[in-house]
Amino acid sequence: MANETGFQALGQVLAGAGFQRTQSGKIASEARSAEYKCNVCHDLGWLSVDDADGNHLERCECMKEEDEARRRALFLRLCRLPLGTEDRTLEKFQVRPGLEKAYNAAREVAEGKLRWLTLMGGVDAGKSHLGVGIARKWLERDRPARYAAVPEFLDELRKGYRPDAGMSYDEEFYFYKNVDLLVLDDLGMESSTPWAQEKLDMLVNFRYENALPLVVTTNLTMEQISPRISSRLQRATFGKVVVIKAPEYRLWRAKRESKSEEIRI
Ligand SMILES: [Zn+2]
Repeated sequence: MANETGFQALGQVLAGAGFQRTQSGKIASEARSAEYKCNVCHDLGWLSVDDADGNHLERCECMKEEDEARRRALFLRLCRLPLGTEDRTLEKFQVRPGLEKAYNAAREVAEGKLRWLTLMGGVDAGKSHLGVGIARKWLERDRPARYAAVPEFLDELRKGYRPDAGMSYDEEFYFYKNVDLLVLDDLGMESSTPWAQEKLDMLVNFRYENALPLVVTTNLTMEQISPRISSRLQRATFGKVVVIKAPEYRLWRAKRESKSEEIRI
């Protein structure tokens, strides 16, 4: 029954076990290629394989693309990127004067060459764009990532659950701790409960102890951040802290536009 590749179409196995295809009369040899999109698995997506591991099921090659697309969609959903940020990619990031270091470090994290990155700087300096862009690169590389806006994340922690999360609270927190890349955007002076703050400290500490990739963006200085977190951010030998000194994007754009108008005149 096994064909030359060593696989046996699952349909044949089922037929052998007494299962009948409803149109069994049509499974004539010359009709077969027209009837199935995949002649290896007979469109079941699985193959019964007999090898050193014994008899088991294996995914058929014909399902590869569909499986990949499904996995990517799942990773994208689990990442929880904010809506309307599709164009926040590293490719579309404008490297303005003063942002070169931040951008280069972001690329290093995106490529898996740097584990921790803390981006510090004023509002609208491009930190969130870089954080989202890094997460998108990880998804492109088929690696799970999770984005979290810290104020909302703390709120979630405080409530203990998210009705639409599809995971229990413990599973969620486990995911935050262990996901391949975590982006904590906009770490601020939180007005959360001490318990939620404690959870955030625990999360950062866990990822520090296990050297798991983390990106933190903040408007604060190290002195303003919770000491347990700032000490980890500064001590991580596998990370970088970049202080952005570029002007705000809106100011920079306004200045550039007024300059180009001057040129036009
Ligand atoms: Zn197949």
